[in-house]
Amino acid sequence: MKPIYMDNNATTQVAPEVVEEMMPYFGQFYGNPSSMHTFGGNVGMKLKEARAKLADLLGARPDEIVYTSCGTESNSTAIYAALRSNPDKRHIITSKVEHPAVKNLVEYLSHNGYRATFVPVDAKGNLDLDYFYDHLSEDTAIVSLMWANNETGVIFPVEEIAEKVNSIGAVFHSDSVQTVGKLPIDMDSNQIDMLSLSGHKLHAPKGVGALYVRKGTKFAPFLLGGHQEHGRRGGTENVASIIALGKAAELAARNIEAENERVKFLRDKLENALLEKIPNSMVNGDTQNRLPNTSSVAFEYVEGEAILLMMDEYNICASSGSACTSGSLEPSHVLRAMGVPFTAAHGSIRFSLSIYNTEEEVDLIIEKMPPVIERLRKMSPFWGRAKGAACGVAT
Ligand code: PLP
Repeated sequence: MKPIYMDNNATTQVAPEVVEEMMPYFGQFYGNPSSMHTFGGNVGMKLKEARAKLADLLGARPDEIVYTSCGTESNSTAIYAALRSNPDKRHIITSKVEHPAVKNLVEYLSHNGYRATFVPVDAKGNLDLDYFYDHLSEDTAIVSLMWANNETGVIFPVEEIAEKVNSIGAVFHSDSVQTVGKLPIDMDSNQIDMLSLSGHKLHAPKGVGALYVRKGTKFAPFLLGGHQEHGRRGGTENVASIIALGKAAELAARNIEAENERVKFLRDKLENALLEKIPNSMVNGDTQNRLPNTSSVAFEYVEGEAILLMMDEYNICASSGSACTSGSLEPSHVLRAMGVPFTAAHGSIRFSLSIYNTEEEVDLIIEKMPPVIERLRKMSPFWGRAKGAACGVAT
């Protein structure tokens, strides 16, 4: 049975057109793009084409793209590049709701010679801009803020912030792993210095990512080695996956506005129906200022893991927080930073849709989910107590 896959912020299906495009580069065209012979050179030409397609999606120049192995590597590369290129500055700013790929690195750096500021968010997950501007200083080497949050979909005003950061001479990096392919991006009309993306979030395979580095940005490679990527990232290119990412970028660029409309319609239908049918349920995060595909819904007084297990019986795939934090019983750091009460944070489910979801799938979740929550609540001592004290339905 085909899964009803609503966990696209964790990873996406590789598009069939993408699979078709990359396959010949395993068997038939296996040359090294750096080789002098024509067999390898032809692969190099194909890489050039792929680079141009990704640059087009971003409104960037092809030579501003540095391929990496994943979003995590892109983020590390950006942060270390800014710190190494500005050795006199010792301050880093990020937010409290970043993905561990940024959060854990900045925490590590804060114990190893750097000062770090973690900017808080409000109850809707929006960045506290006053706090941010109060802490931005001449000593700030880099500001690293995600464009859209992987758990709630809430969008930060990174283009506006980048201008201010640039004006004091600091580097601005955005972890845009959840944004690229979901929102239109035009690097030509903003001042973001570096931007991370990851292939597997936009229908390309796992194991390939990229870092956009604006022309003129001071840079130091993270992986020292060969001359690949104009000396900015050593290592023989992951040819088939880079070609795949180019194709995925081409597909995303072609359909982004129309697909956004359709995905948003499905997301809203799902969310509104769940809120209506299930008492004590609410959306985590700003319902307006967010990605069109993401819905994080809290079902009070039940465990997210239990919900997921019961939904799994119907082959419905979602997530109880960020993919990387599930498995732990602690509510996610994102929901905690927003001040979501424990009773709601524990029962939070993230649905993240893609262009491959259908209205029939949404209807099936709307049918199956309310009885699942009802069954779990009957087993929950907290629900019994809450109902005794309930004074209304929080939807
Ligand atoms: N940043 C964000 C916002 C993400 O959602 C993820 C993955 O979930 C990453 C970074 C890490 O990307 P990758 O899995 O390609 O390393």
